[in-house]
Amino acid sequence: MYRKLSLFALAAFLVMAFNFSPALAAKYYAAQNDFTETSVQVARYNWAQDSIEGCVYKENGVENSYYVWTKLAVQKWRQALREYTGNQEAWSFTARYVRSEAALESCDVKFYIYDTYKDFPDYPARTGAYTSVTFNEGESGLDARVYLAPLVLHGDGKTEIDLPTYAFRNSAVHEAGHVLGLGHMQSKKGYLMSPQFDFWEAKDQLPITTLELDALVDVYGTDGFD
Ligand SMILES: [Zn+2]
Repeated sequence: MYRKLSLFALAAFLVMAFNFSPALAAKYYAAQNDFTETSVQVARYNWAQDSIEGCVYKENGVENSYYVWTKLAVQKWRQALREYTGNQEAWSFTARYVRSEAALESCDVKFYIYDTYKDFPDYPARTGAYTSVTFNEGESGLDARVYLAPLVLHGDGKTEIDLPTYAFRNSAVHEAGHVLGLGHMQSKKGYLMSPQFDFWEAKDQLPITTLELDALVDVYGTDGFD
């Protein structure tokens, strides 16, 4: 009888411990439960500064909501990193609106939101959202540019797609992941950092998961970008 009771008490304790574990209470990221792949490739660059300042420029015809979703993508990474590492002061990654393309130049990360993929500087080679990160010769370190558009070209090379909201938001989070130094998964789709997002299959954007956060903590440690 005693034994039974203590087992029960242990089980009750475990249930309570689980309820209070940070992974289950996480608001900004999810536990990864697809174990087809167990790590995210990382790029050869990384940031070495306290804070990463992003700026967002959008073309005249682009609705304001696309700016907001881009800003939210940046916030999502910041909050996920803070929550995952328990370090609320670090991981300063911000995005603010700027009125002109020229105003982007003083920012660490330059987000461009164009009306259409046809305005991408690398069109026609690029017909969907992409990110370019280069080493700056000067002291400012990295130069990151993210190109987004609500209208992209399907992989078939001819069908234009007006992205549903969740698909645009997914690509903004995906591209911001590249900015932080994440590469692509081998799996074509299914992961946030997969090269494709199948919005016919996926009904919502993919969450940031422990998989991406583990990869970033491997690169930066738990105390921020510097
Ligand atoms: Zn990508």
